[in-house]
Amino acid sequence: MISSHRMWLAAVALVALSGMMSAERRSAGQPRAAVPTQASAAQKAPPMTILRCGTLLDERTEQPLHNLDVVIEGENIKQVEAATRSVPQSATVIDLSHETCLPGLIDTHTHTLLTGDVTEEDYNRQILQESDAYRAIVATQAARLALGYGFTTIRDLETEGAGYADVDLKHAIERGITEGPRMRVATRALDVTGAYPVLGFRWDWPDWPHGVQVCDGADQCRTAVREQISKGADWIKTYLDGGYRVTGNGVVEDRPTFTMDELNAIVDEAHRENHPVASHAIGINGVHNGVMAGVNSIEHGMYIAPDDLKMMAQKGIYYVPTLFVGEYVAQGRAAAGAKVWEQMVSIHGDTFKRALNAGVKIAFGTDAGGFPWTVDPAQEFPLMVKYGMTPAQAIRSATAAAAELLGMRDKVGTIEAGKYADIVAVPGDPLRDVTELEKVNFVMKGGVVYKRP
Ligand SMILES: [Zn+2]
Repeated sequence: MISSHRMWLAAVALVALSGMMSAERRSAGQPRAAVPTQASAAQKAPPMTILRCGTLLDERTEQPLHNLDVVIEGENIKQVEAATRSVPQSATVIDLSHETCLPGLIDTHTHTLLTGDVTEEDYNRQILQESDAYRAIVATQAARLALGYGFTTIRDLETEGAGYADVDLKHAIERGITEGPRMRVATRALDVTGAYPVLGFRWDWPDWPHGVQVCDGADQCRTAVREQISKGADWIKTYLDGGYRVTGNGVVEDRPTFTMDELNAIVDEAHRENHPVASHAIGINGVHNGVMAGVNSIEHGMYIAPDDLKMMAQKGIYYVPTLFVGEYVAQGRAAAGAKVWEQMVSIHGDTFKRALNAGVKIAFGTDAGGFPWTVDPAQEFPLMVKYGMTPAQAIRSATAAAAELLGMRDKVGTIEAGKYADIVAVPGDPLRDVTELEKVNFVMKGGVVYKRP
């Protein structure tokens, strides 16, 4: 999430939780009713499936390709070939000849354990009133919705107080117990004492739940990294700043959290154990500290200094901008007294343009869960295009580039022989109108069809 908690907010709930939940139930119901479960579909899976794609987008070719068959055996793509050959009788052919096929989308910044946190009250309600068990059940719905939108892989960037429930969700999906994307998970995330919610409640009750694992001092933080990795974290997530304010010259000032000593220990320990580090950093100081420590991705980065952009390009540090959530929460947070969120929207767009020009690697990420899962995270695409990407670049950020950030390039991100058959399709041409990606009507993950026209 992008921390609504660090400001003083009036207790305004914009959306009644009951209303939000029933809306999620309705939209979750549709794809589920239309498709078999992974387990039942896998049992009945034919030996060969052929997707007959009218158009196919692939990052390796500048132009879209036409009239291709994607041949799938089991969970993998066997080959991609011209749609001319005769089809074996045993093969199942799925006609997507009026569709555009593209690799399954990848969202590199999600929170399946959250259902929206525009205001501090939204957040606190989930942390203080809902058990981890309840939140895990709700998260299965988020995962199903994500898959329905066409996201076949996600990096879930911390559970917001729900312990290691993301590891459980990942395993349940892998075992076919519930439907959802492939997951890379960050478990509990790290921040220092006094910097992360819930905050501001009575001091004489010592055990208020926390949205993160708190660590202070290099040794404690190193231990926390070891704990998280031992319990299933694929990524280590750190929070590097808070207390945002916009200065006269359009710079987002922030209050850094970890000392460099602590942050270096976190990055060193994670990397020593071959685990990458994702860092929430919104303002100038948090981003700078993350870049200096050599984290693998900067999350949000509403303002990044020019020298830090240069360094990110040099070091290959990814920028995961999450433009949509910034716009989504701005009005509600401003109405609750924090105008800074409105001020940061245009600064964010400008930072995105500067990052693009500086040659920084950009991966698609939305912070879904920071807004309700009933909202399609693909609304990030038109903003990336608005601030300078071509539709092809925006699609690449959510496929091949995202796969590279996740260290999964050998398995996902393109449609080619040997990779997982993670393929989606849309009715129109997303290169002409990138909002077509909000109309995904075919979803296959690992050779199993979850949604079809
Ligand atoms: Zn987040």
